[in-house]
Amino acid sequence: MAKPRSGTYVWVSWLTKQMAGEESCRWRLWFKANNKFDKIPSDFDLAKWTADHTQLLHSRAEQLRAEGYAVYLEGQNDFRMQGSSGATLSGKADIVALKDGDACVIDCKTGAERHSDKLQVLLYMLALPRTVSHCKGRELRGEVQYRDNVVGIAPSEVDEAFREKLRSHMALAASNEAPAKAPSYSECRFCDITSADCPERVEESTATTETDLF
Ligand code: SF4
Repeated sequence: MAKPRSGTYVWVSWLTKQMAGEESCRWRLWFKANNKFDKIPSDFDLAKWTADHTQLLHSRAEQLRAEGYAVYLEGQNDFRMQGSSGATLSGKADIVALKDGDACVIDCKTGAERHSDKLQVLLYMLALPRTVSHCKGRELRGEVQYRDNVVGIAPSEVDEAFREKLRSHMALAASNEAPAKAPSYSECRFCDITSADCPERVEESTATTETDLF
């Protein structure tokens, strides 16, 4: 069963899926932000993902070094920010590349393109200049590096609308009141919260109803 955290803690990718509208169940973010819990074992192939991600990351890093960039990887780009509500936002960018006046943060993705990928990089562009010494005082541009293409993100995209979206979702995570759940098979099957902590969890897909409408 879950144990309450000592303070609200949000990992970047929990937030960006909700900000992008890829998850409807807001309780999921709130619960994870405020509790430590036993997760459902996943059939996700972590070893393969790690190998594929590491290969993509190092291939991009080598390319950047060859172009004369100073390259900082993963743990070197680790950050934690605490807002006025006391809630903490934490993350770790795959690559920061610096050369002369150019500063770029890159996240490597081995799966299909999702809007949340871009929001994740926007959060890094906002957070790293405030937290990580090699990014202090710099304006970062961003990239999402997929296997076969790159999506570029201009600094101007870290705008007031994005900041407001961040504020409202961090407020949701730090709220004293639990938001509503939105149980559905399509979301619950990808959620790592057990039915012990979320009894409304939906384990079976919707049954097919035969009809004479068409
Ligand atoms: S199991 Fe379903 S209803 Fe429960 S938190 Fe996860 S997504 Fe929401």
